[in-house]
Amino acid sequence: MSESWTSTIIKLLALLAGAVTVGLLYDQLFVVLALTAIGALVWQLYNVFRLDHWLRVGGADGLPEGSGAWPGIYAKIQYLRTRGNRHKRLHRRLMKELRQSTNALPDGGVLLNSELEILYLNRAARGLLGLRRKRDRGQRIHNLVRHPDFVEYLESQRYERSVQIPSPARKDGWLACRLVPYGRGQKLLLVRDITRQQLVEVMRRDFVANASHELRSPLTVITGYLDGLAEDESTPPDWRSPIEEMQRQSVRMHNIVEDLLCLSRLESSSKASGDNAVDVAALLHQVKKEVAAMKRERRDVTVSVDSSARVLGEQSELRSVVSNLVSNAVQFTDTKGSIELEWSTDANGGYLVVKDDGIGIAPEHIPRLTERFYRVDPGRARTAGGTGLGLAIVKHALQRHDADLEIHSLPGEGSRFACHFPAGRILDADKR
Ligand code: ADP
Repeated sequence: MSESWTSTIIKLLALLAGAVTVGLLYDQLFVVLALTAIGALVWQLYNVFRLDHWLRVGGADGLPEGSGAWPGIYAKIQYLRTRGNRHKRLHRRLMKELRQSTNALPDGGVLLNSELEILYLNRAARGLLGLRRKRDRGQRIHNLVRHPDFVEYLESQRYERSVQIPSPARKDGWLACRLVPYGRGQKLLLVRDITRQQLVEVMRRDFVANASHELRSPLTVITGYLDGLAEDESTPPDWRSPIEEMQRQSVRMHNIVEDLLCLSRLESSSKASGDNAVDVAALLHQVKKEVAAMKRERRDVTVSVDSSARVLGEQSELRSVVSNLVSNAVQFTDTKGSIELEWSTDANGGYLVVKDDGIGIAPEHIPRLTERFYRVDPGRARTAGGTGLGLAIVKHALQRHDADLEIHSLPGEGSRFACHFPAGRILDADKR
């Protein structure tokens, strides 16, 4: 107990003792005790009143005087008040610095609450998204940025990737937006200007598409002459072998050009329309028939179909996915090997799997397989006739169907390529 309280209690006891003495002396113990208690109460009330007044005027006229425990109480309140003010100033300064530093960032940042309403946005975000601080605070972000890809991204709950959208504020501008969840359901929306990268990407895409297109006609002419020479009986016999090699190489070149054009087409638009329903089971049976019809490349192919559901998308692209995966399985599995094609669905979507028991792939190569022209064994892949673009085509075609590709493989044990289509892309068999 503090000294002031001890002296207060001693004083109170002394007052009571005095009151008892006077009361007994005059034979009026209860009256004197009551009067003393009322006096003490009035005195404490007066002190409470002074405290209230002092608090209301904000401590402007210094610490009020008092006796007993009161000066200690005033001092403690004053101390807490000064400390609170210091914290408030510190907090304000920190907030100001935080605002200044976030405003200096070249990338946009928008703080959103769990309802996706704007809490705060920095200067870059205002410029990039065309938002206003006062007007738009408290608004839901998808009421202000309405691009369908962005809205779909917000609803997807898959925030590990970013979404690219045209800038709502600038013509021809492009933005990459990414949500970073934090705290209790709050999110930070990061916005980056990718107009330049997008421009370079479009130029690259156009260049590859144009170059491939330009190569088509000369290649057709060369192939035509080579075919003519191969069929001409007057061609000297020692030319036969070089001509056959040239024919093989021109077929390879033709396949590369066609695959490059196919990739350019896939890259030129972001989503496959969901207007058509593709019968995946029928597709698998058809590809199985094609493998069975191959003379040299025949393999044991089994098809297992657990669902008659269809995928909403483009028939030609899904066909290209299946035939690329199956032709790889054929290339990298020997003639005694077997290939399994599976199609199944559950509440999370559809699963298209191509499995083989071929040479398999070492783990360090798996993350890079979908890169253009990436090959585990370039020599073998080239002699087998691959273009090096098959899995890049598969990846892009799947992306356009909102689907993922998962690859599991072990050297010597075979590979499993699984394509997962989200539930939104699956049409149940009973719906027409
Ligand atoms: P390619 O035309 O060379 O087959 P892809 O893009 O289709 O090009 O495949 C890239 C590489 O991935 C292949 O060269 C091969 O090394 C590896 N690969 C793909 N599928 C398989 C498979 N089923 N088994 C083993 N390796 C495979």
